[in-house]
Order: sequence, then structure tokens, then C-alpha cells
Amino acid sequence: MGLKTLDKITAALRSRPLELEQLRKEGKKVVGWLAYNIPEEIIYALGLIPIRVGQGGDGRLVEVGARHISTKNCVFVRQALGQFAEKTDPYIQQLDLVAIDATCIQLYRLEELINFYFEYKTVVLGVPRNFASKEGHEYFRKEVEFFTTKLEEFAGVTLEQSKLEKAISLYDGIREAIKSLYHYQSLDNAPLSWRDVSSVISAGYNLDRQNYLELLQELIAEVEENLTESPAGKEIEARIFLSGSLIPPGDTKLVDIIEQLGGRIVGDDLWSGLNFFLNLEIKESTPFGIADAYLDRVPHGSLPYLDLKSDGRLANLKHHLHEFGADGIIYHTLRYCDAFTFKAGETKDVLGKLPFLEIHTEYSGSDFEAIRTRVEAFIEMIKSKKEIAELV
Ligand code: SF4
Repeated sequence: MGLKTLDKITAALRSRPLELEQLRKEGKKVVGWLAYNIPEEIIYALGLIPIRVGQGGDGRLVEVGARHISTKNCVFVRQALGQFAEKTDPYIQQLDLVAIDATCIQLYRLEELINFYFEYKTVVLGVPRNFASKEGHEYFRKEVEFFTTKLEEFAGVTLEQSKLEKAISLYDGIREAIKSLYHYQSLDNAPLSWRDVSSVISAGYNLDRQNYLELLQELIAEVEENLTESPAGKEIEARIFLSGSLIPPGDTKLVDIIEQLGGRIVGDDLWSGLNFFLNLEIKESTPFGIADAYLDRVPHGSLPYLDLKSDGRLANLKHHLHEFGADGIIYHTLRYCDAFTFKAGETKDVLGKLPFLEIHTEYSGSDFEAIRTRVEAFIEMIKSKKEIAELV
């Protein structure tokens, strides 16, 4: 059954590039941003239009990007650079400024390359490595303050308290709505899938945020209306949780394989997925309050964390595995994404007996069959375990 609001979101996305073109003619400015810790609330409150940039799954664009950066960078970084080099993407064409935060050292290198080769105006937001410390917080407060000043100069306006409060409330609403959608997609009687929610998240990176929140609320109401009775005696399914490197819009290889083999994705802790919307509680409507909230949420895997017992990333992962009733994890890493590749071992150790499959890949299709074989065996193993457990 198709949900009407999903069609509305697709239609809104289709008309968005033209809408942006028109808004720019009227004097509005578009800020493209990349990474994990850019406080969109500040961009929005200054009357600028935020667009989250970056797609995956296109081996040709990876090669274009690799002409300007070492091939020892992950494919997401290389593809992003390829998108800036070609400028065929309708959103990349509209950017007046590009903001990048330094959460991932590879990604943040894009800033100088975009600026140098393709003459985009850029701004960088520094991110502390020791983000859980008092000094880390002080550093990030200063960085967000500096970032705000830079954006004020660019926008030609000063940040107003009332506009910032409105922006925070809008983004809080979006975060809550995405969390609800994740809850619904994991239910047995869900009228939408993880893939649907993932597409909705990707759409939100480009749409007008106020319009997006209204569409999300409409979608939730439609989902609630269409929840059916839980099916009795349903088939045994393999409920898969995705972890590791990001799975950005356009990168569907692994998701396609899992679904083609009858696996059901029920959750993730990806920085392109649910994690981005979690635990962001802005207690004080100021750039300092925003800085503290961003640092205190679920940390990005590329930031070092030495004490596994108090590592918020792992605690969050364990919590959501339970919450979504996952039977196993597929830990997906992109080639040269050292940040997540080196965390595979510790992630597996902390999770104990839960079935764990590590997939190391990139955006070319050459490893499709090899991945398919491994995922097939993993799904069969999960289903057999569940069948045996049901018999006991
Ligand atoms: S965290 Fe990994 S996948 Fe993400 S941009 Fe950095 S290197 Fe690439």
C-alpha cells in the first residue's frame, strides 16, 4: 500500500530545485553543508536556506573526484568532490556558501579543495577531538560563536533571539517526527519500511524545513491511520540493524541486497540515518547552548573515545538494537573510512553474542555478488536460529 504523503514528499522534492532558483532570484542565499555537527538552527534563523550536501553510489563521480584528491580518501568524500567538480547536481548548482565541520578529518579536507579548485565560498567549523571534556566544550562554544559571526557577515543580518528560538523549536519538531517514524517502521504492522524512512530523511535535507515538518506530521498521522492488526502466525524474518559508515542518498547497493534476499531492515545508528536526530537537547537558545547540545549528543564514530564503558555511541547502539528488536547487525564500512573500520572490532566485542556481519565495500558494483553471498548466508543463519528457538 502506498502512502499518499510519501508521494507528496517526492513531488515537493521534484519542484525544489526550481523553487530554490526562484528564491535566489529574490535575494535569498543557499548554504550547503556537510558532515555531522553543523548547527542548522543558526543557518535557518539567519534567513539562509540550509541544504545538506553529499550523495553516494556513483562510481563515475568518485573517479571525477579522485582527480582532485588522493584515492586514499573514502568514496563518499571523493564522490562529494566529484559533484562539486561537475556541478550537474541541481542543488550543488545553487550553493552560495559551503559549510563543513571538522568531525571527520577526511571530509573536512574538502573545504580547501572546493574553495581552491571550484571557487566556492566556504566556512569551517572546528570540532574538538576530546569532545567530552570541559576544554572541548569551551573550544566548541568559541567555534560556534565564530561560525555564527561568519554567517552573520555573509547574510548581512544579526542573529535575533526570537528567530533562533523559532528555529530551535522547528528542528526539535523535525527530530521528534523522525524518531516517531523510526518507531513505526520497526513494527510488525508498519505501513512503511526503513527504506521509506531513509528516503524521507534524504528529502528533508533539501526541502524547506517548515514545509518538511508539516509533511512529516501529515505522514505520521497517515501511518497511524493505516496501522493494521499485527499479523498472526507471520513468517520468520531476519530483522537487520545497519551500523558503521554512512549510507547516503543514492547508495542503495547493500539495502537492495538485504531486501532482495528477504531480510528486513529495522533500524540503524548511521550518521546519515537515525543518529543525527537523537539526544539533541538545546537547553539554552544561544550559540553556546547549541554548541553544548551538539557535543553532548550521540558522538560520531570518527571522534576518538577511549573508555568503552561510557562511550555514548556504543550505549546508543545497544539501546536501539533492543528497541527495534534486531536479530543481527550488518556493520558496513566504506573503503578508506578508517574511522568506522577500526571500530568494527570493539563494536563486535561489546555486543556479545548478537550475529554480526562486517561488510567492507565501495561504490563500484564489482563486489555485488560477493556481498550478496555473505548477506544470504547471514540471513539464513539468523532465520535458522529463530526457527530452532521457536521449536525449543
Ligand atoms: S566518517 Fe568515514 S565514511 Fe564518513 S566521511 Fe569520514 S571517512 Fe568517509
